[in-house]
Amino acid sequence: MGRAGEHPVPARRRARRRDDRDRQQVRRDLKLDHAARRARDLERKYGITVAEYERLYTEQLGRCAICVDPLAEVKVCVDHDHETGAVRGLLCNRCNQGLGYFRDSAGIMNAAVRYLMESAAQDVGQEVSMR
Ligand SMILES: [Zn+2]
Repeated sequence: MGRAGEHPVPARRRARRRDDRDRQQVRRDLKLDHAARRARDLERKYGITVAEYERLYTEQLGRCAICVDPLAEVKVCVDHDHETGAVRGLLCNRCNQGLGYFRDSAGIMNAAVRYLMESAAQDVGQEVSMR
């Protein structure tokens, strides 16, 4: 038989070790207070500090960068370029999801705007012709 260390760790045991590590991480997370967790998440997920987040918030006057709804009343999303990771701004959850649904594509969003405008123009045309 081979020496110790040559045998691969069975997948089930590896998974159990991973689960134990996850549980330990969850316990550590619970110990962090909300502010510390927020600071850590901003840094980890978006590479920005709390001060940078607050500067953005102030620059945007506490409003969504797209629909200008007050951010105080909604879940705030740190919008970022998925390719470069660069933070673009703070958005309400709806606008953030909207960008995602439109695949972050200005071209597709422009097509959607044209589509809505053309539909609106046709609606007006129908109203006029019905008179
Ligand atoms: Zn919005």
